[in-house]
This record gives sequence, structure tokens and C-alpha cells, in this order.
Amino acid sequence: MGTDDARRKTQVVAVGNVAIGGGAPISVQSMCNTKTTDVAATLSQIREVAEIGCDIIRVAVPDDAALAALPRIVQESPLPVVADIHFRWDLALGAIGAGVAKLRLNPGNINEPQRVKDIAHAAKEKGIPIRIGVNSGSVAPRFLDADGHPTAHGLVESALGHVALLEAVGFEDIVISIKATSAALLLEANLELAQRVAYPLHLGLTEAGPYPSGAVRSAAALGAVLSRGIGDTVRVSLTGDVTNEVRVAHWVLGILGLRQINPIVISCPTCARCKLQLEPIAQEVERRTAHLASPLKIAVMGCVVNGPGEAKEADIGIAGGDGCGYLFRRGERIRKVAEEDIVDVLVEEAEKLAMRNGGLSC
Ligand code: SF4
Repeated sequence: MGTDDARRKTQVVAVGNVAIGGGAPISVQSMCNTKTTDVAATLSQIREVAEIGCDIIRVAVPDDAALAALPRIVQESPLPVVADIHFRWDLALGAIGAGVAKLRLNPGNINEPQRVKDIAHAAKEKGIPIRIGVNSGSVAPRFLDADGHPTAHGLVESALGHVALLEAVGFEDIVISIKATSAALLLEANLELAQRVAYPLHLGLTEAGPYPSGAVRSAAALGAVLSRGIGDTVRVSLTGDVTNEVRVAHWVLGILGLRQINPIVISCPTCARCKLQLEPIAQEVERRTAHLASPLKIAVMGCVVNGPGEAKEADIGIAGGDGCGYLFRRGERIRKVAEEDIVDVLVEEAEKLAMRNGGLSC
């Protein structure tokens, strides 16, 4: 896991300047929860997620008013914009005209075959890929089992049915997502899908819930699939603040060793041996180093029993003593630091290392 060799080989798809699949770093996506017609609010949200490392942003285009807002959003967005469209072929053609970087659309929901052809032709001409997305909650009745529940095989067949419609008109610039609310169903469906096609896969646990419970559910479900080498781009779907989607996605990719762009703060749970107020130290170090665009490992350990070992494994770390801490940098014990200075010292050291690695903020 975590190595290029262990990752499933997929074809590459370009979403603006971001590559999905073909061995590219697993990209992080989010979706605006603003009204697309409120261009200022939508752009402000896009900038907010871009600042913390989002790679691709999606906006819903449910009607003509949203379509009319698209050109300015596309023009001013720092991220490639994906238009999320259901049922209406005219909105899809309009979004392509507005310059979006990708469409999220199910051709099987466009009832006129000629219109599917028109969309595929227009997308191909502009080099715009299409993501086909099947969700366990909205799959057609013929893909349900006798009890009315979607099956993994049914979800795969449903997705491939949409894919076939695009392939039939010569369009293969495709990303597929099968999303489910159950981790087991998500894993089973993606395992089968990965066996059957070489298209890159977009992963997500759908309707995961609010933060933080939705983050935990997503981490468990996405972790199971990603750890099998499957998944080329991810979206963590959470109700509420969209910046959480991006943070959680990076935490999941970081702990799996797949992609880390910001520091990880590891800290011990503390026990009777700890003689420091460790929690506020760990919280503050995490908060003050989160913006650094450098994959550092920072250890905040409560005592000298396990502390030095962990602190030595990290880029920088502290092993707590009595009212003080021992600072380690890349395996080397540097000096003793008073408890009240630990946060400042660790942050300063992290900034120095980040600067050396060439990335102070992302
Ligand atoms: Fe306890 Fe020390 Fe382990 Fe922290 S590092 S949990 S203080 S033994």
C-alpha cells in the first residue's frame, strides 16, 4: 500500500490541469454547497477550499440561472470546475460552452440518444471528461435484490450501462464513481468495477453525515478501498462546512501513506506518567502548523517511556519531562525546552523545515 506498484493501473484523464489516474497523485475534490447563482459566495468557497489543498471543485447546475452563472465561476476559479448535471442535455452543452473542466452526468438519464451523441461530441472536441456517478440510493429498480436493496454487482452493471452509452459514440474520456452508504457495499462494488474496467475511479461514501461522525465513517469506508490500491480521486461528503471535506480527505490519504501535503501531528493519549498539559500543546501545534505545505511528521509525546522513540521517528518532536520537554529533530536530541515554550519551539522548527522543503503555506 502507498507505493506506485501497489496502485491499480488506470488510464489518465485530465481535469483542467489536474490529472486523475495513470499514477497521478490521488486528487481531492469537494462540492460547493452555496447557490451556484450566488457567484460571489461560490467563488469565495472555492478559494477557501483551494487554500487548504482541494484540487478539483464541483458545482451543481440544476437550471438555466445556474448555467448563466457558470462562465464567471469558471473564469475566476483557482480550481478546475466540474458541472454536476442531471437529465438536461441542454445544460450539459451549455456547461461545456462555459468552459468547465469536467461534466458529472449519467448519459442513461438523457432520454434522447442523439443528445448523448451531441454531448459526447462537444466534450471530446474540448477535451472535457465525463464522470459517470451511480449512487446506491438512486439506482434503477432492475439493479435491486429481492428485498429492494442495491447489490454491488447491480451498482457495477448500472455504472457500466451508462459507460456503454458513451463508448458507443466513441467517447472514452471517462471517470466512474460508485457511491454507497455502506462501507461493505462500497468496497465490494469498487473491487468488481476495478476488475472490469481501466477507467480511473472516483471514491466517496455517500451521505456520510455531519462532521465529525461522517468523517469517521468516510475514513473507514474509503480507507478499506484505497488500501486495496483502488481509487484515483476522492471526495469526502459531509453535511456542513465544506473545508472539512478537504481536511478529512487529506488526513485519510496521509495516514494511508498515499498522499500527504500538510504536517501530521502525532501525540500520545497520555497516562499517569505524563507531567505536562499535553492536550493543549498538541492542539495548538496542530492548529498552528496546519497551513504548512510540507508533509512533516511532528510528534508530541508525554514522557520519556515511549516519547523519545516516537519523537525520533518524526521530523521533529518533543518527549515530555517534568515541566519541560526534550526536543528531537530527525532522530537527534537537540535540547531541553521549558513547558511554556514547547508550542512556539515546535512551530518554529516546523516552519524552518517546511521552508527548507520549499513550502510554507498551501
Ligand atoms: Fe503515557 Fe508516556 Fe505513553 Fe504518553 S508516551 S501514553 S505519557 S507512557
